[in-house]
Amino acid sequence: MNLLLVEDEIQLSDALSQILIKNNYNVDAVFDGEDGLNYGLTDIYDVIVLDIMLPKLNGINVLKNLRQNKISTPIILLTAKNSIEDKIIGLDSGADDYLPKPFSPEELLARLRAITRRNGNFINENILEYQDIILNLSSYEISCKDNSIILTSKEFDIIKYFIQRPKIIVNKDDLISKIWGFDSDVEYNNVEVYISFLRKKLAYIDSSVKITTIRKVGYRLE
Ligand code: CA
Repeated sequence: MNLLLVEDEIQLSDALSQILIKNNYNVDAVFDGEDGLNYGLTDIYDVIVLDIMLPKLNGINVLKNLRQNKISTPIILLTAKNSIEDKIIGLDSGADDYLPKPFSPEELLARLRAITRRNGNFINENILEYQDIILNLSSYEISCKDNSIILTSKEFDIIKYFIQRPKIIVNKDDLISKIWGFDSDVEYNNVEVYISFLRKKLAYIDSSVKITTIRKVGYRLE
């Protein structure tokens, strides 16, 4: 699981990185708000741990900016401040959780597990589980009960994107920009083709998971 750590206290950052790596997270550590924002905007992270008091750009502004840019990565805010007011501003700005310093590493790990469980459930760094389907992140194999099939890389990217946003409507433009990139020439009907491949593969492995079309809006994994 890819984790972005934005924390300017080097000692704390190093200590957290070591613990997170031991717990199978792939950690990128950056030390100011500008880097935090730029790394976060790549949208390659499964979770972001974000300090509030940061040089260059504070954590709340990083958070707001990410959400304005439709980055829905779960974010845990860290802060030395523990006022109710900060907590409310943080959560109102789109944070998923809030952890006042000092905290124990075990508490951070527990919060990370809780926050990422709300999306697909990572069994380990290679396996993502959702309802009756298991997605192998290294072999691109999707399986259900005793059935399995290998996905193409785009099919894999799409189903992974859906699994991390279950029951949320994903619009086609978001899907295109996240899977193919902003500059791509991909059109809606290309997306529809991939969705229909994926539906066939979900049916083939006999999964009860469905990709539902929401008319004129997009899709939803159910
Ligand atoms: Ca700080």
